[in-house]
Amino acid sequence: MNDGNKDVRQALNVRDISDYLYCARKVYLRKTLNLREKTNAKMIKGMIRHEIFDELNKTEANIVSGITQQKNLTEMGDIYKMHLLGITERIFRKYENLAVSFEINMQEYWQDFWKNVQQEIQLRIKAISKLLEKNILGYELWQSLEPKYLTEFKISSERLQLVGRIDRVMIEKQDGRTIYVPCEIKNADAIKPYESDMLQLACYAILLEDKFNTKVMEGIIQYKNKSIRIAIDESRRQKVFSIIKSIDNFPSSQIPKIQENFRKCESCGLRDECFDI
Ligand code: SF4
Repeated sequence: MNDGNKDVRQALNVRDISDYLYCARKVYLRKTLNLREKTNAKMIKGMIRHEIFDELNKTEANIVSGITQQKNLTEMGDIYKMHLLGITERIFRKYENLAVSFEINMQEYWQDFWKNVQQEIQLRIKAISKLLEKNILGYELWQSLEPKYLTEFKISSERLQLVGRIDRVMIEKQDGRTIYVPCEIKNADAIKPYESDMLQLACYAILLEDKFNTKVMEGIIQYKNKSIRIAIDESRRQKVFSIIKSIDNFPSSQIPKIQENFRKCESCGLRDECFDI
C-alpha cells in the first residue's frame, strides 16, 4: 500500500484530497505556498456546529444511561432536546461577538441548525425505543444500543498524516464484529454521486480503518433528495493514495494551472492570491 511520503510533509486534510480533483492549484497554494483561506461566515458556522456535536458525542453515554424508566418517543426526544439546547445556547453565546463581526444572523442560523439537530435526535431515539420495548434500561441501554452514532466526528491518523471530520459515523455489530459506516451529508440534490464525494468517503473509510483496526466496506452519501450507499473498494482506496502521492510530489517550481471551470473560482477562498500569482 502506498501511503504517501509521510515523513516530509505536514498532515493533509481530507478536503485537500477532494479539492485536488477539481483544482490541484488550490491544494498547491495551501500546501506548498502555505496560503490560508480567509476566515469567513461559513467557517464560523462550521466551528459552532463542530463544537456542539463534539459535546454531544462526549456526553451521549450519560444521556442514554440516565434513561432508567420507560419513555415514549416524544419524551426521549425531549431529553435529547433539553440537553442539546443547553449546549447550543452556551456555544452560541460564546461565538456571538465573532458571529456579529462576520454578519451572521444567529437567529436564522439557529433555526437552520436546529432542523439538523432534530434529524440527529430522531436517528438516535429510534434505536433507543427498540431496546426500551425489551425493557432494557440505564447503563445496559447504552451498552446494548445499536446502531450508535457519532456526529461531526474528528479523526486523524499519525501514520497516514491525514485528518478529517466525518459528518456522521454509524456503529453497529454484525456477526460479532463492530462495523463502522461513514456518512457524508450534502446540502444539495444529486442525480448520481459526485466523484469528489465518493473520494471523500473513501478517505473517511481509510481513517476509520486506521483508527479502529477494522475494514470499512461501505459508506453513505446523504444528498438532500436521496441517500446513496457507496462500496469502498480497493480502486477507490488506491485513488486516495495516488492523490496523496501527487500532492507530496508537487514540483516546487511549477504551479498547477488555473482551472477552467470559473464557477468554482467564484466561491474560492484563495481567489485573490491565486489570480495575483
Ligand atoms: S481561484 Fe480557481 S483556479 Fe484559483 S485556486 Fe481557486 S478554484 Fe483554483
